[in-house]
Amino acid sequence: MLPSPVRAILRRLNENGHDAYAVGGCVRDQLLCRAPADWDIATSARPEQVMELFAGHCIPTGLQHGTVTVRQEHQSFEVTTFRADGNYSDHRHPDAVQFSDDLREDLARRDFTIGAMAMDDSGSITDLYGGQEDLRRRVIRCVGEADCRFDEDALRIMRALRFASVLDFTVEPETAAAIRRGREQLRHIAAERIRAEMDQLLCGVAAERVLLEFPEVIGVFLPEMLGTVGLDQRNPHHCFDVWEHTARAVSSVPPVPLLRWTMLFHDLGKSVCFTVDAQGTGHFYGHGKISCRMAAEAMRRLKFEGAARERITLLVDWHDRDIPRTRKSLRRALHALGEEALWQLLEVKRADNLAQAPEYRGVQEEIDRAAEIVRELLAEDACFSLKQLAVNGRDMMALGLTGAAVGAMLDHLLHLVLDEQLPNERSALLSWVQGKIKSR
Ligand code: ATP
Ligand code: MG
Repeated sequence: MLPSPVRAILRRLNENGHDAYAVGGCVRDQLLCRAPADWDIATSARPEQVMELFAGHCIPTGLQHGTVTVRQEHQSFEVTTFRADGNYSDHRHPDAVQFSDDLREDLARRDFTIGAMAMDDSGSITDLYGGQEDLRRRVIRCVGEADCRFDEDALRIMRALRFASVLDFTVEPETAAAIRRGREQLRHIAAERIRAEMDQLLCGVAAERVLLEFPEVIGVFLPEMLGTVGLDQRNPHHCFDVWEHTARAVSSVPPVPLLRWTMLFHDLGKSVCFTVDAQGTGHFYGHGKISCRMAAEAMRRLKFEGAARERITLLVDWHDRDIPRTRKSLRRALHALGEEALWQLLEVKRADNLAQAPEYRGVQEEIDRAAEIVRELLAEDACFSLKQLAVNGRDMMALGLTGAAVGAMLDHLLHLVLDEQLPNERSALLSWVQGKIKSR
């Protein structure tokens, strides 16, 4: 059951009179037949005893929390002394950590039953809170009293939703009710932590269901989104309200955080620019630009890195423009966006359409056709940037141009090439410039 380096660490601790177990997520993943991200080990040995036993191949990673990283068979394992956490006055961290000799105390401080199990070196499981039963029923349930557990550490609210999404589990009703009651405590949690949990939640297999079940939780750190919940679009393209459309769009794009966040943000602006025409049809004129501004503001609050922020706002801004479908317009799109962002935009367009009324799925074929043209353009090494132009500044100077005229001429040539009015060939471009200079 356990990989050999984990067994070796457990045995060495046991042989020296200490209790030791694999604990937490790795036990859960093992029972679910998923590959654990890492193997955590809990022991009754004090950190200095662990240091002594594994002298020469360990690092004191977090001694005040009782954690020592042990190297074994070229891998690293966190070995942490059993703990009993004290009070939590900041809704995130225990005020004090107390070491314990008792596995039961260590399991009691863990957040969810499915992550509060331990496995010894023979593979036998200690499960005090019905974790195996909850795995079988596929539910996320708090260890102990849910309201208290979320009040102690509000990040657990996001962890619960993240596990529900990634594992495709439901949140047990009492735990779900406590999440809703305690959601405002999320304001005590650092934006970076919320974002990291959301990255995983959004990429989970059940992201759509979890978003639809807990909009009021998402609304704590993304209040812009609350106006989209239940907003009837009154438009034949849309058979869902804006939030349901959004959740479906999130789950329709490949599970990469940048794309999933783009879909989460793409229609934020709809809540502020909804109009109904004389026929009773709903419209959202200009919502791409407005969503883009709202997304930029939300991403600043959530501490996104500059590059991700820029890319996501670009995609949100472009999501509502017509799909380019000619060689010329796709060349122009390549010029404006670059290759990577254009591929991403096509994915965004696809997902947006998949989350609309089924009668409009013909758009998928338009996107297929656009993708085919982009592949052709790239295969023939088509020019869409100054870097790829068959002439450069030196060529322009050799023909007598100076100063700003050099750049202006290159730009002009690029646009003629993008419009397919000139081939991207050196001799053709040079003679066109010569003709232009002469005619002046
Ligand atoms: P992942 O697959 O993300 O690694 P995990 O369950 O292993 O999931 P970790 O963050 O690696 O999560 O934490 C390891 C274990 O520590 C958890 O299974 C849980 O028992 C406990 N734990 C982690 N964070 C908390 C928390 N905020 N409150 C209570 N227990 C926690
Ligand atoms: Mg883990």
